[in-house]
Amino acid sequence: MHALPSEAIEVQNLIRRVASERIAPRAAEIDKTGEYPQDMFDLLKELGIFTLPFPDEYGGQDSLLAGCVAVEELGRVCYNTGYLLVVQWTPFGAIMAAGTKVQKDRYLPGLASGELRAAFSITEPQSGSDVAGIKTRAKKTEKGWHISGAKIWCTNALVSDFIVLAAKTGESRGDVNFFIVPTDAKGLQIGPKEDKLGARGVPSSPLYLDDVLLPEDAILGDPGKGFRQVMGALALSRPIIGARAVGLAQGALDLAMQFMRERRAFDQPLTDFQGLRWMLADMEMQIEAARGLVYKAAAMTDAGIRGKELAHAAAISKAFASDMAMKVATDAVQIFGASGISNDYPINRYFRDAKVVQIIEGSNQIQRNIIAKNLIDGID
Ligand SMILES: Cc1cc2nc3c(=O)[nH]c(=O)nc-3n(C[C@H](O)[C@H](O)[C@H](O)COP(=O)(O)OP(=O)(O)OC[C@H]3O[C@@H](n4cnc5c(N)ncnc54)[C@H](O)[C@@H]3O)c2cc1C
Repeated sequence: MHALPSEAIEVQNLIRRVASERIAPRAAEIDKTGEYPQDMFDLLKELGIFTLPFPDEYGGQDSLLAGCVAVEELGRVCYNTGYLLVVQWTPFGAIMAAGTKVQKDRYLPGLASGELRAAFSITEPQSGSDVAGIKTRAKKTEKGWHISGAKIWCTNALVSDFIVLAAKTGESRGDVNFFIVPTDAKGLQIGPKEDKLGARGVPSSPLYLDDVLLPEDAILGDPGKGFRQVMGALALSRPIIGARAVGLAQGALDLAMQFMRERRAFDQPLTDFQGLRWMLADMEMQIEAARGLVYKAAAMTDAGIRGKELAHAAAISKAFASDMAMKVATDAVQIFGASGISNDYPINRYFRDAKVVQIIEGSNQIQRNIIAKNLIDGID
């Protein structure tokens, strides 16, 4: 039990109820068909939670902690529905951090209400973790910005109105900027969705940009500074990714306990086997530890702590929580025995989705690089 502020408890109660009544019954089908769950997006819209971590002027609570709690409760029953929320928050956070007033007025109210949907694209075939290694080019002429290149793994592009997309504006590795690219822009082609191991309900696609012409004001932030502004803002929201992992692990534990109560072996319920009881206890301890780290990093953000101190706590929370989720989901499959391998049971979905969280939003190796660098160089 964590001492959460009353607003976060309200969010927790609301989402927990809606998740069990309306989202859990859809979760297996979303994973199985891999079809975009428009009904779940409409439900999130109805709940009005697209701005939870953002300021009141956009209808939010200005609380990353409340955002984490919401994502945790969704992820507990359906990773994909939690993803719908997070994938909307990323471009919102990017424009909040680096956008001009005109860009904010044009895009943020629509993202907040769910009238607009957006995606975020950095990854390219030759560079994922190595963000500065991207090759997509943005060249300025008197007509505006001309963008050419190729992206992969752009999640949500197929259902989005626009994409916040990274491109190189100069020769050096650091010359990267973000641009707001409408999905109906001439010269942009969105390829078919990946057939994925996990996170199957939210489509990820390649993008092909062939001399896409954008107006001069499509650049996000000041040239040379915008990239750092955006990436800095995204690092602040990293605890949200940890929260997805905590929710996922909690859901796997819920299902494992239910299975242990119902399944019998050697004339006993599985709950009577000491070896399995200790597995449950280990799962619970790890989840609680990760939850504490995630809430701590989120509370630090909400308290206005910034810089290396926050980046350190955020990296620890993301890496620890997602490694923990993989371990807990693996143990949960073990408790299910052969049923854990069968697609007729929900547990292997948790196992597959957990692997995704270790890789996305800065892989856990990259998080460890950040943590080790801070240790060696010092945080102050
Ligand atoms: C479901 C899903 C959705 C995604 N959605 C998006 C999206 O919307 N937008 C987007 O831009 N991208 C998205 N991605 C891409 C994701 O951000 C990248 O996959 C991730 O950054 C890793 O890049 P990579 O796959 O190219 O691996 P690589 O960078 O090639 O890494 C390969 C391996 O080497 C390790 N490694 C790399 N560098 C180092 C290092 N310096 N030290 C130690 N180990 C290292 C990595 O941890 C990994 O284990 C998505 C990916 C997935 C799976």
